[in-house]
Amino acid sequence: MPLKTIDPEIYEVMRHETERQRTKLNLIASENYASRAVLAAQGSVMTNKYAEGYPGKRYYGGCEFVDMAENLAIERAKKLFKAEHINVQPHSGSQANMAVYFAMLKYGDTIMSMDLSHGGHLSHGSHVNFSGKLFNIVPYGVSRETKTIDYDELSEIARKNKPKLIVSGASAYPRELDFKRFGEIADEVGALLLADIAHIAGLVVAGIHSDPVPYADFVTTTTHKTLRGPRGGMIMCRSEYAKEIDKNVFPGIQGGPLMHVIAAKAVAFKEAMNKDFNDYQKQIVKNAKKIASELLSRGYELVSGGTDNHLMLVDLMPLDITGKDAEAKLGEAGIILNKNTIPFETRSPFITSGIRIGTPAVTTRGMKEKEMAIIAQAIDETLRNMNDAEKLKDVKKNILELCRQFPIPYDEAY
Ligand SMILES: *Cc1c(COP(=O)(O)O)cnc(C)c1O
Repeated sequence: MPLKTIDPEIYEVMRHETERQRTKLNLIASENYASRAVLAAQGSVMTNKYAEGYPGKRYYGGCEFVDMAENLAIERAKKLFKAEHINVQPHSGSQANMAVYFAMLKYGDTIMSMDLSHGGHLSHGSHVNFSGKLFNIVPYGVSRETKTIDYDELSEIARKNKPKLIVSGASAYPRELDFKRFGEIADEVGALLLADIAHIAGLVVAGIHSDPVPYADFVTTTTHKTLRGPRGGMIMCRSEYAKEIDKNVFPGIQGGPLMHVIAAKAVAFKEAMNKDFNDYQKQIVKNAKKIASELLSRGYELVSGGTDNHLMLVDLMPLDITGKDAEAKLGEAGIILNKNTIPFETRSPFITSGIRIGTPAVTTRGMKEKEMAIIAQAIDETLRNMNDAEKLKDVKKNILELCRQFPIPYDEAY
């Protein structure tokens, strides 16, 4: 029997969520719309199978077909990223990082990583996350003047603290990361290098962001952000670390792999091999640059003065608006994004002084520079008329019209 009959409540929730995705503009930098094919694989019979272990070495019978799916995912990912070894089983990006830490470090060892408030990720050492609780974290950040990473300073911190592992990667850093330089600094102090490309994996595949694979001992990623696959994680490493990594994913921190998600990862990797995908990634960056230049020309301040990638951070301090209020009002106008701390933040992470704007999702809808100009205008009008309900209604109408012109890749997702 169909979902609608079995569970009308969840059916209704899913209908509303589809409608929300259809009618709202998504500028959340970490989100995207997976294709119908990805959804089909993820919502399939593959979810019924236990497959603890790895292809050819499972702890359950009947794994011949899920083995094929996992092997396809691995082979395709190897082609895309040219990594020596790949583990496609991590349930999430955080678990991919956890497996690397557990494989290479002992509790209390020193990890050097980007401060959360400067753009880093929870799993890089936040005190509320396992990473900050189990390891000694030495943070690095951006410089006060340029709001970009100062590699000389980073090198100095590394020499002083002798970390076992350096993490390069961020959730809210609008500039290109110099993985070569990270590699040199790690070599200099005898540290391992982990590049966490959760946000920028799609850009890396398309060759429009520097590739960490030649320089990093480990590369972790999510598969659901710019890569546009199912929600999940992945680890790439040199062959010398293959055994240690695999052992730490399973049985170290996970049980049965999510074979339906692994099948969907394989589908997403296949999609990422198309030339279309490279064009898509290029358009993401063009679109981000367009919103950035439109906001700059209207007098907005962007952290680091602009963007090289798929996202930007708007510093709302000069407007005396909090990130929290901006997020709420933009949401009322149909523009969904998130409040974000800015470097050297003075407000709490629940309030913040910035917003993060990303273009992966709107670019999947087919929007280009022309639409980015409309979006920047709508953001500006909203932020300048936060208490004018009529104005916000107008903006909402325009945003709805834009969403209708550029539909999401499915009418119904169930
Ligand atoms: C999104 C992200 C992750 C992990 O995300 P999950 O939500 O655990 O899948 C890890 N690192 C960075 C830099 C991220 O942006």
